[in-house]
Amino acid sequence: MEYSHRYPAYPTQQVAERLEYHIDVHRQAYNYTLYEYENVDGDDIGSAYKHHYRLPGWKDEFPVFSEVNSKALQRTVTRFYQNLDGLSEQKQNSRKVGKLKWKSPREFQSMTYSQSGFELKNTSGRRATLWLSKIGDIPIRYHREIPDKATIKEVVIKKQTTGEWSVSFGLETDDADLPEKPSVDSIDTSDTVGIDLGILNYIHTSDGKTVDWLNLEDEYDRLRREQRKLSRKEKGSNSYEKQRLKVANVTRHIRRKVLDYQHKLTTWLVLEYDAVFVEDLDVKEMLEQSHNARNKQDAAWRQFITLLEYKAELYGTHVVEVEAAGTTKACASCGVETAKPIWVREHSCPSCGFECDRDANAAMNVLQRGFSELGLGWPEDTPVETALPTDTRSVSAKRVIEAGSPTLNEATPVAE
Ligand SMILES: [Zn+2]
Repeated sequence: MEYSHRYPAYPTQQVAERLEYHIDVHRQAYNYTLYEYENVDGDDIGSAYKHHYRLPGWKDEFPVFSEVNSKALQRTVTRFYQNLDGLSEQKQNSRKVGKLKWKSPREFQSMTYSQSGFELKNTSGRRATLWLSKIGDIPIRYHREIPDKATIKEVVIKKQTTGEWSVSFGLETDDADLPEKPSVDSIDTSDTVGIDLGILNYIHTSDGKTVDWLNLEDEYDRLRREQRKLSRKEKGSNSYEKQRLKVANVTRHIRRKVLDYQHKLTTWLVLEYDAVFVEDLDVKEMLEQSHNARNKQDAAWRQFITLLEYKAELYGTHVVEVEAAGTTKACASCGVETAKPIWVREHSCPSCGFECDRDANAAMNVLQRGFSELGLGWPEDTPVETALPTDTRSVSAKRVIEAGSPTLNEATPVAE
C-alpha cells in the first residue's frame, strides 16, 4: 500500500536559499524537457525513461544541471511526462484542455528526491532531520511517526504559498506486513457501525453516538474578513501581496485543523470497530442540491472517506461504502420509504410504527446495507428496534481527539 506523510520543515536561511536555487534549476529542467519534447526530433524523446538518457548531454551543455542531485533531476523529467499523461487523460474524458505550458517560478515550488540522495535522521523525538544530498540538513517537526515497516520511496520538498516549507514522504508498506482484517463470518453486529454523514456538521452512528464536527465559525469569519480586505487592495501592489499571504495563512490553518481532526476521528473509528460502513458520496452528491457550502463539505467528506479507507488497510478493519439513495427515507425496520423534509428530525414509520431519530434511522440503514455488501444477512436475532440504542450520546470532538491520540503516536498515516 502506498501513502504519504507530510511534515513542516524549518531550513535555516542559508539552506532555504540553496533549496530555492535548486528548485529553480529543476524548473528550468522541466521547461527544457517541454522544449525538447516539442522541438527535438529524436529516438530518445517521448517517454520519461527514454528522455533520461539525454541528461548527460544536458549537463555537458549546461553545467548548471550538474549542480543538482541527478536522481532528482530525472524525477523532474518524469514529472513533465506525468503531467502530460494527466493531460491526455483529461482529453480522453473529452474535457477541454490546453497543452502544457512553461512554468514560472511561482508555479514551480517543489522538487522530488527519488530512491536515493536523502536520509531521515534523529527520529526519536518530536523533531527529526532530513538530509538531502547537495543541500544539507533540514529540521522537521516530526509529529507523526513513520511506521517501522514502511519504506520511504521518495521525498518532496515544497515551498508553500505562505513562504513556509514542508516535506512529504512517499511511503510504501508491503501488503504482507499489514494486519489481517477480521474474517467476515466472525463479525459481530456490536462491533460494526453505520455512519450517517450529517448535513448539520456532525456524524451520527448507528450505535447512537453523535460526533460533533469541528466548530470553525471563528476561522471562517476571519477568512471572510481577510478576503474582503484583499479585494480592496490593488492587484500586484506590495500590500496586496502581504494580504494574499494572510489569506493563504488562514486557509492553510483551517485545512490543517480539519485534516488533523479527520485523522483522529478516522483512527478512532477503525480502532473502535471491526467494520465501518459509510454512504457512497458520489451518489449522495447527485441526490442533494449542491451549493457552495455543500461543495465544501463534500470535499471534506471525500477526504474523510479516503483517510478512513486507507486506515482500514493499515489497522485491519473493514470499511465499505454503501448505496446512499434513500437512506433517510427508508424505514430501517420494515424498509417502506416515506419522504421527509429536512426539518423533520424524527423518523416515524406509517407502515410499521417504528420510531426513532431521523439520523439514527439513516445510520441504521447504512449499517444494514453494509452487512449485505459484506455478504452477510442482518442477524435475525437482532431486531432493529433492539439494536438501536434508546438514547443518543454525544461524543465531543475533544474526546475523539483524546481517544485517538495515543494510537496516533504509535503509527499514523498520511499527511498533516
Ligand atoms: Zn417501518
